[in-house]
Order: sequence, then structure tokens, then C-alpha cells
Amino acid sequence: MDTVAHRGSIMRAEIIAVGTELTSGQKLDTNSAWLSRRLLELGVMPCWHTTLPDDLEIIVTALDLSRQRADLVVITGGLGPTLDDLTREALARLAGVELVLHEPSLRHIEDIFARRGRPMPERNRLQAMLPRGAEALPNPLGTAPGIWMTVPRTPCACPREEHPLNLGLAKPRTTLIALPGVPSELRTMWQTIVAPRLQQQLHSPLVFRERVLHCFGLGESAIEAKLGDLTKRGRNPEVGITASDATISLRLVAQAPTDAEAQALLDADEAFIRQQLGEVVFGSGDDELQHAVARLLERTQLTLATAESVTGGLVASRLTQVPGISRFFRGGIVAYQTTSKASVLGIPAHLLEQYGAVSAPVAEAMAQRVRQLFQADLAISTTGVAGPDPDERGQPVGLVYVGLAWTNGVRCCEVRWFGERLEIQSRAAKTALNELRLHLLRMLPATR
Ligand code: ATP
Ligand code: MG
Repeated sequence: MDTVAHRGSIMRAEIIAVGTELTSGQKLDTNSAWLSRRLLELGVMPCWHTTLPDDLEIIVTALDLSRQRADLVVITGGLGPTLDDLTREALARLAGVELVLHEPSLRHIEDIFARRGRPMPERNRLQAMLPRGAEALPNPLGTAPGIWMTVPRTPCACPREEHPLNLGLAKPRTTLIALPGVPSELRTMWQTIVAPRLQQQLHSPLVFRERVLHCFGLGESAIEAKLGDLTKRGRNPEVGITASDATISLRLVAQAPTDAEAQALLDADEAFIRQQLGEVVFGSGDDELQHAVARLLERTQLTLATAESVTGGLVASRLTQVPGISRFFRGGIVAYQTTSKASVLGIPAHLLEQYGAVSAPVAEAMAQRVRQLFQADLAISTTGVAGPDPDERGQPVGLVYVGLAWTNGVRCCEVRWFGERLEIQSRAAKTALNELRLHLLRMLPATR
């Protein structure tokens, strides 16, 4: 078996996704994102994502570039039996070798067809052809075997300066691993064959560990300003900020010789971030605002109801995504038309006439009324203008009021979101969940 060689202290990888459905925009390349995360777990730095159409010339050219700049190249897609599946042929061209039949792979493919009770089309034989010298990686879920091979790092024969981590190979070689495009096959093969083998060979001097913290209530640049030079490039951990639908996420990636050291670096940065941002941080990992709210409802043992207008049920819908929320979430009402706010929720006509449906007094009354209707400890309400046009009273698109009612009081917050209709609705729902979260945080015992 060929070993993996690399030239620096950190191995650099390129991921190549092959498929015209990807470059034409019909399908999203999710394999590359998944592979990047797996590589990072192994201490390999994904440095390039390349997406290519099913075109032999283009694939060979890209492979040639990748073998010169990366230590490891992972290719996904193009291993199928059809004429547009060109990865095998491209690899053979790159290595300057012919395709040869791999008998065990052929038997595996024949077996699959036999078990399905169908004759094997001649074209599937192609899937058992590998560049001479390459190794087949068994594919338990499909017909196409993966391919593991190495090629000289540079096309010319001039050897590069040898690095101690080059694992004793005479001349530097780049490892290429081709895997199927079908995500389930790719993942299974990676987990069962590729990752264990890479791990064994790499002896990576460093591990990468990642942590993600989510924030709501401040903009990206305001958050960055509070964090000083934490987001400077080249720092360890490296901290990146991304905004998605008004949620700002901080992604910390630490490199260290051991897991414990990487975790310690992450712990220190997380503590600093939480100290600087306080309640703006609502969760980590896969958390959304509703998960933070659910945890706080659990801790406070308070019940909740919702009255929604502009969000059309989004607040209730997100809350009910959380398992076990039925112990705290009593229910909600979508009172969309102004007349329903009066007839169903019982909002006094004079409030609606005087202030309009999109107003702080109406938001507060909605929260108070729904709290009574459901006999809940807390209630949250939304009313606003999702657009694209202003409301009949001329209230601007994006204006949202969130009302919050509790046993001893009521309050309202006003926000102005920008964006398209669905974005405004989603952000309004997040605002409501966040108001709820902040209120619940204050209700916790002082010991928290
Ligand atoms: P295989 O190598 O397993 O034969 P292929 O690329 O030759 O894969 P396709 O028919 O092109 O076979 O793709 C199989 C399925 O996998 C399709 O649904 C395709 O959209 C999906 N797929 C291919 N590449 C990717 C990718 N990078 N990310 C997500 N899905 C992908
Ligand atoms: Mg394809």
C-alpha cells in the first residue's frame, strides 16, 4: 500500500468534486463540505475546493494542478458506469498508465447484479477498471470501487527538497483518493476505510478541534469590535465570524499536539468571548434560539403561549421542533387579519383603531390576552410588516413589534429588519424567541 507523504508540518489537502450537475448549479456540492470537516478532524488542512464538470480535459488539468500544490487530493464523483463518468480515465491519464481490470471488483459488481436478479450491463465492467498500480477501495453500498493511488508531486522528474515528514519516500508523491459521488457511499467508505487508513499513516503532529458559538442581538461588526483581535488571521485558535439570518456564529478552530491542549485553547477563547458578549451568546454547536428557550423553560418551569401575526406561526413552529417542549408550550394563535385580532384574541377595538395593528400597544395586548387564554405563565406576540408593501397605515416594511407578557407585567420591543418577506418573518420570529430567552435568563436564580 502506498503511504501518504507531506512536505510541511501540516498536511494540505485539495477536494475535487466532479459532476456537471454541480458546476451547472442544479445540485449543491455537499460532499466537499462534509469531506473538509472529516479532514480537519484528522489534522489535515483542506486548502482548496475545486468543482469540475464531467469533462476529461478539464479534470486532467485540475488533477495535474492539485498534485503539485496539495499533499492529499480527495476526488468525489465520476466513478459511475456511464459515458460521463470520467474520473478513472482522468487518473490513468494523469499517471500516464492504462486502465486494467481489477478482478475482485468485477466479482463484487457481478454479485450485486446477481443479488438483484438482473443481468450486468457491459458498461458496468468499466467500474472494475483501475489505473495500473492503483489500489481498489471496496464499496459496500454500491458498484463503483474507490481508488487509492499516488503520483509524483511534479510532472518532471526533479525531486523536491525532502521533508522529514515525507515518510521515507524517495521522491515526494501526492496521494489521490477517488470516492463515489453518492453521499451515502462516500461517507461509508470514508468512515470505514479511508479515515482509519489515513489516521494510521499520517501521524499528524497536530490535531484540529472546532467549536461554534452562536450569538443573537448584535451585528457582525459590533461583535467583532467587542472581541479585539480575536478574529485576526493566523491566530490559534483561528476565529471566524459568519452571519446567517441574523444569527452570528463564531467558529473557533484550534490546532495543538493533543486533543486536551486543543480543548484548553478553545476553553480559554470561549470564556473570553462569553465574558465580552454576555447574554448575546445563546448557544453552541447545533443550537438554535428555540433550544436555548427550551432549556430555560425547563430550568424555570414556566409555561408559555404565543400570539402571532407577522410570523404566521413560525415562533410556535420553531418551539415545537424541540422534543419535550409540550411540557412548557401550551399553544399559540395565529391572528393574522386585524379583525381576528379583535374577534379571536379580544384586542379592544379602540387600540386597533387608534394605533393600528402594527403597534406596540397591540403587541402588548396580544401577549396579555393569549397568556390569559392559555393560562400560561408567559406569552410572546409578534406583529409587523413583512412586505413587500408597507401596511395600509404606511408602516414601513420590516417594522416588527414583539410583545411579552408575564404574571406581573408586559413590555414590548420594536425592531426594524431589512430583507425580503421570508427573511423578515424569520428574523421577527428569532427576535421573539430572543426576547423570551432574555426574559427567562433574568428569572433564573442569582446562582446561575
Ligand atoms: P459515483 O462515482 O458514485 O458513480 P457519480 O458522480 O458518477 O457518482 P452521479 O450519477 O453523477 O454519479 O451522482 C450520483 C448521485 O450523487 C447524484 O444524485 C449526484 O447529484 C450525487 N452527487 C454527486 N456528487 C455530489 C457532491 N459533490 N455532493 C453531493 N451530491 C453529489
Ligand atoms: Mg457524476
